[in-house]
Amino acid sequence: MALAAPRTAPLSSPDQAGRAAVRPNSAGSLFQLLRDGQPRTRADLAATTGLARSTVAARIEDLLATGLLAPTGEAASTGGRPPATFAFNPRARVVVAVDLGVSHARVAVTDLGGHVLAEDTLDLAIADGPEPVLDRVVEVARALLREVGRPESDVAGMGVGLPGPVEHASGRPTSPPIMPGWDGFDVPARLGEAFPVPILVDNDVNIMALGEHEAVWPDVDDLLFVKIATGIGAGIISDGTLQRGAQGAAGDLGHIAVPGGAQAPCRCGNLGCLEAVAGGPAVAAALREQGLEVPSNAALVDLIRSGNLEATLAVRQAGREIGAVLATCVNLLNPSVIVIGGAVAAAGEHLLAGIREVVYTRSLPLATQHLRIVASRTAGRAGVLGAAAMVAQHVLSPEQINALVGSAD
Ligand SMILES: [Zn+2]
Repeated sequence: MALAAPRTAPLSSPDQAGRAAVRPNSAGSLFQLLRDGQPRTRADLAATTGLARSTVAARIEDLLATGLLAPTGEAASTGGRPPATFAFNPRARVVVAVDLGVSHARVAVTDLGGHVLAEDTLDLAIADGPEPVLDRVVEVARALLREVGRPESDVAGMGVGLPGPVEHASGRPTSPPIMPGWDGFDVPARLGEAFPVPILVDNDVNIMALGEHEAVWPDVDDLLFVKIATGIGAGIISDGTLQRGAQGAAGDLGHIAVPGGAQAPCRCGNLGCLEAVAGGPAVAAALREQGLEVPSNAALVDLIRSGNLEATLAVRQAGREIGAVLATCVNLLNPSVIVIGGAVAAAGEHLLAGIREVVYTRSLPLATQHLRIVASRTAGRAGVLGAAAMVAQHVLSPEQINALVGSAD
């Protein structure tokens, strides 16, 4: 059974149009109670929802038929035949999760609970253009599905992160500065030729924020994920929800001017942007002036790990510049956790120390009272975890579950 028909309209339209139409007694609504994976009996569900036992029983039958709900055994009985229990079965279907960077990619097959079943990292230049890059992604995804022994018909959806601005509703990159040939390209249509399933695309930092939130900080409602690599960007989770802004450009920290910072020219055409002052290449340029060649972000991290003083000081200073911009964000958004990730963030405590030094001095005391500034804990996996979470949120939504069980109510 196909989880959903091939996408024929922008993903936002069924969501927005359908949300008001979902009735609380529908199978999709009942399923939301079961998303936590806890086994429940029909009586538990009837008591929680106030629905008639017969309605609950009918909805359970519908959900069992999808495979997304599975019998889990029997509850303890006080006498007589013990009642059957049911729980969400995240392994019923799989997700292809893709995190495309500038020079590398990570592709994973996960279950609907975000557990990685298989993954692969590959060297891949985004500048080669959309067709060769996406064809390679499809090839790797098919190999991973074979590896875990799942047929392509088990794929419930595909989530993709791109290193540039994306119009999330259409899945098209919008004037991405470092992705020649990608502007306006219909990514879901191309991938949909191989996998006729819902395909969701977003900016890589947004999906990293989702992934880190889901995997490490599920109980935190206000979180900022800051990616520090060649570029600098942030994904904003506010009140538990990813904030994309009006055009999907929210969180583009890299092109905020550093208060009192150097007037370095930026690739966006402005002067003194955070990225031009504190991104990986900016730190490398500062070190070159001191006679140190640093060809890549990885080389920078290696230098710091080996205890090189100049590199350590340069990264700490970059941390202070990033902190100056983040201090403003903290005053504006009042996050309780700021997660620092990305290739340069692997430099560790020296970068964090520079960031903390400025944020805790320059933000308002009430905003920093319980603020934690921490390193990413997902070990480079935040992107694929977030891509998987984005797909699961969509395909397990009440609307999509109702469409799957074929019930209009
Ligand atoms: Zn700029």
